[in-house]
Amino acid sequence: MNWGKTILLFLIITLLATFSLFSLLAVFQNPKSSNSHNNQPAIDPWITQTIPSGGSIFSVLANQGLPLKEIALLAFSFGDYIDVTTIQPGDTLKILLSEDKQHISKMMFIQEKTTRHHFTVTGDSLSYTLEALPVQKRKRILDGALQGTLDATLLNMGLSPKDKQAINNGLEGEINFSRDARNGDGFRIYLEEHLFEGSVLPGHKIFYVEYRGERTGNHELFRYQDKEENSVLNGLYNKEGKSNSTSGVGFPLSVIHVVSSFGKRIDPFYGRWANHQGVDYRARYGTPVYAVANGTVSCAGYQGGWGNEIRIKHPSGLSSQYAHLASMSVRSGQTVRKGQIIGRVGSTGRSTGAHLHFGLLKGKGFINPTNLKMVGAEKLNDTQMVEFKRQQEVIKAEMQALLNPQPVVASSSVKPGKQNKHKS
Ligand SMILES: [Zn+2]
Repeated sequence: MNWGKTILLFLIITLLATFSLFSLLAVFQNPKSSNSHNNQPAIDPWITQTIPSGGSIFSVLANQGLPLKEIALLAFSFGDYIDVTTIQPGDTLKILLSEDKQHISKMMFIQEKTTRHHFTVTGDSLSYTLEALPVQKRKRILDGALQGTLDATLLNMGLSPKDKQAINNGLEGEINFSRDARNGDGFRIYLEEHLFEGSVLPGHKIFYVEYRGERTGNHELFRYQDKEENSVLNGLYNKEGKSNSTSGVGFPLSVIHVVSSFGKRIDPFYGRWANHQGVDYRARYGTPVYAVANGTVSCAGYQGGWGNEIRIKHPSGLSSQYAHLASMSVRSGQTVRKGQIIGRVGSTGRSTGAHLHFGLLKGKGFINPTNLKMVGAEKLNDTQMVEFKRQQEVIKAEMQALLNPQPVVASSSVKPGKQNKHKS
């Protein structure tokens, strides 16, 4: 296995070396071609660099032959705007040099296809803007019939594993699938997909799920959308606002934005590959951190690279870990309830910016915390229910409009659309 890795690494290095050689040749040939074709559009003045495996922003900048002082300033300031723990091989850095080629005047960093991070360098300072490229949104109704398992049926319809999971989790609490589901049972899904440059981006926003079978009866789920775009409450609930999930595990933050997931990644400090033993959530300094389940605090203190760290031992035998905290409001030995505030987000220890590192331990080993089925709320509260009822009506009206498009006719007698129920 180690040999396989070594060979793979060797191949990658060889490939990179070949590419560098080619790009070098291209640089030497460019002046000629630009002179001979004066009427051609100018060559792209941006230098485009892909972060190589094992590379870093620093190494990419150093390859441009720029003064070390400038590189240090830029590489350092970069971390004020980009969570450097998210930098992956394949991310793109575009650089625009000054006239004398001694300084960088602009940089553009591209991670997700749909966002651009722009940096402008003026003397010793850096200004930053984030540009979100417009994505096209398309709402669709998918009608299907059960063939084998629900999982397989949904995947066959082109839904992503994550979408499939959300639908499955929602229906599981409503329907006893192994006992009552039958091939040919019908279902309807109303979702929104995002398109960028003609292709569908992964992950849908699911607004509505209906399942109907002779033995199962009819079941409907609706999406609840909180004011916060990434609220942990967002998701599918039944009409009464129950989330159908009884895992008993909550989220450590009320708004979730994953910036680095479990597994391999580039070490933000040294640019080497390292194993990331948890999930990083982006959050502002001081954001409350919650215990994900009932338990006993097994440690709460400063632990080297973890900074201020809390570990909670749960009755399930698992322990949860919360690191880089600005402050802690629990002590070792104390019992905590699920949802209790245990501390505040910070950047203590070996951290490059405010974030929560959330880990999960089984015995002494770290396991992937996304294996936990975390639930924002088992039941929406009264205030949320008022809003949820309103959203259900909007969803139903939108679906009705999609199913029965009204002809655009100047008519005074618009009849209510006939309920073409279960037409599939
Ligand atoms: Zn982390």
